[in-house]
Amino acid sequence: MVILITASGDFRQAGNNMAWFRNHYKCPGCGCHWTDDWSCMCDDDCPACGDRHISPYDSEERTQIVERRGAGFVVLRSPDSAEHSPDYAEIASFPTMKEAETFVESADG
Ligand SMILES: [Zn+2]
Repeated sequence: MVILITASGDFRQAGNNMAWFRNHYKCPGCGCHWTDDWSCMCDDDCPACGDRHISPYDSEERTQIVERRGAGFVVLRSPDSAEHSPDYAEIASFPTMKEAETFVESADG
């Protein structure tokens, strides 16, 4: 999955052309695992026991995001050539989130 949606349902913007990461965490207190999406490799709090400031043990950089634009949705891709500041390019647009999601999932596999 490379679609960034906050808990409130808002889309996270790839503002300032920042790369997005899916960070993987493991809690040293209770041992649970979780993942979260951030614009950097940053610490998170355990959703189970509330341990604070846990650093990710792994992180995947995401190359595609879906963004709401006007009445539709566009799929943006960060080109592999991007080094310091990924320049997201629009590669497809869809009238519904569902279609954009399907496109991203098939392109991702
Ligand atoms: Zn915990």
